[in-house]
Amino acid sequence: MTPIENLRSDFPILLRKIYDRYPLVYLDNAATTQKPRCVVEAMTDEYYNVNANVHRGVHFLSQQATDLHEGSRETVRRFLNARSTSEIVFTRGTTESINLVASCFGQAFMKEGDEVIITEMEHHSNIVSWQLLQSRQGIKIRVLPITDEGVLNLDGIGDFFNERTRIVSIAHVSNVLGTVNPVKEIIRIAHAHGVPVLVDGAQSTPHFKVDVQDLDCDFFAFSGHKIYGPTGIGVLYGKEEWLDRMPPYMGGGEMIKTVSFEKTTFNDLPYKFEAGTPDYVASTGLAKALEYVSSVGLDAIEAHEKDLTAYAMQRLMEVPGMKIYGPQDVTIHDAVLSFQVGNIHHLDMGTLLDRLGIAVRTGHHCAEPLMHRLGVEGTCRASFALYNTREEIDALVAGIRRIQTMF
Ligand code: PLP
Repeated sequence: MTPIENLRSDFPILLRKIYDRYPLVYLDNAATTQKPRCVVEAMTDEYYNVNANVHRGVHFLSQQATDLHEGSRETVRRFLNARSTSEIVFTRGTTESINLVASCFGQAFMKEGDEVIITEMEHHSNIVSWQLLQSRQGIKIRVLPITDEGVLNLDGIGDFFNERTRIVSIAHVSNVLGTVNPVKEIIRIAHAHGVPVLVDGAQSTPHFKVDVQDLDCDFFAFSGHKIYGPTGIGVLYGKEEWLDRMPPYMGGGEMIKTVSFEKTTFNDLPYKFEAGTPDYVASTGLAKALEYVSSVGLDAIEAHEKDLTAYAMQRLMEVPGMKIYGPQDVTIHDAVLSFQVGNIHHLDMGTLLDRLGIAVRTGHHCAEPLMHRLGVEGTCRASFALYNTREEIDALVAGIRRIQTMF
């Protein structure tokens, strides 16, 4: 991999001193990642030199902005190895992508009493979206349990499928436990029952290579801001055979072919799902971020972050009273570590770490049902990115030990 100092210099924010004393140790990457200079510069350049609304303009700038926007869609297609750009829908993020599927797939293919299978480790976005459909259409939500170690036990999964099962919707990687779910196997099982699968890739795309054709998933969602791109943009990948048969999500410009007061015809894929002016500057930023990640190399990023995760697990376990949630096996534990130290409240721990310049996340991490399963109100969570170092983990461990002496 490129030397870490070179990579770190791509991220100006990492030079900041926090409270004018401590160099920033940023370990909140599962919430959002920092942005490399190339992403911000590409967006600034577009605003300064290209800006014009896309798709409907005959003038030079509009055509150039359209070329950039559609070029970004092709970059996303390549990144996911989708068959066609028709399968790449730009959304505002993972949340919107999942809501779109719950809403439009639900409307097209689910009736009262039909079932969706989710898991006990889902983010709220993959729970509440289905609950909204439940209240509108009376669907049922079935929840696959996790073991005490925080992994899915596939032994009994067959019992969850029946003639009313319409879709499975699961996280690729848990944002709390770091568990890497065996989604390829789950997709194989679901397909054997004739059921499509939506994969929530918010926490997988930044950390290892995803190939939607190899997974054979039917839908795949991710967010730009978690993979070094801008906020406010994300992606829904969907197989054409499903997207084609789903109704639009929102009505407005871009998503139509013809409109009259009597009848409207909808645009082709993917525009049918992209009502209104898209964030065409953010799509440029996202494409730059994906190019950046690809140039560093996802295999190199994965190896580096696996090393950090293994090192962090080992170092954190030296702390008396330390409990780490999720699997101990790093081959199925991604770059997210939730932990609890003795009876020190997670909020106190996070606040005091912050005073040492160390940014971690505290609370329920938008996974309250999982917190209930773990029997806790919240945890502290350290999550890693390509620019983190072993020295930063040493700083985290030293910080925790220092705070421990205060209690
Ligand atoms: N799913 C998972 C697993 C997440 O970790 C997150 C964000 O933390 C989301 C969905 C929602 O992502 P966003 O807020 O970018 O829409």
